[in-house]
Amino acid sequence: MRLSQAIALGRTLCSPVPATQDDLNGGGCALGMGARALGLKFFHGYSLNEINYPTLRNRVEMPCSCDLPRGDYWYGTLGGAIAHFFNEHVFGAKDWTLDQLIDWVRSVEPAEETPRPTDALAKEPVSAEELSKRV
Ligand SMILES: [Zn+2]
Repeated sequence: MRLSQAIALGRTLCSPVPATQDDLNGGGCALGMGARALGLKFFHGYSLNEINYPTLRNRVEMPCSCDLPRGDYWYGTLGGAIAHFFNEHVFGAKDWTLDQLIDWVRSVEPAEETPRPTDALAKEPVSAEELSKRV
């Protein structure tokens, strides 16, 4: 399942809520939607990340002109872009739709990608703080 497919499937499993993969009330961001599509369980917050989808680390050209913190780990990565577009454009400025975000992810992701199972995450003890840096 490609990342864009996971987000598209996951959107049917939760309500859209910015800035969190899981608001503990049935809502979450685009990455949280993808997490639900993979059947990830709550583990220090949903953590759809580069363990599941190495693609999230890929460098991408940001298709917006927002002034983003360039020193940030996420800057310029697909994962950071998804979080940014969901939080700041689908929600904040409302100048993107979730459909547009999913289409954009589809345009930059590999043609095929099989997500790694969540077991890879569960077997690796990490703090919630560390996880939040990864996602
Ligand atoms: Zn932007």
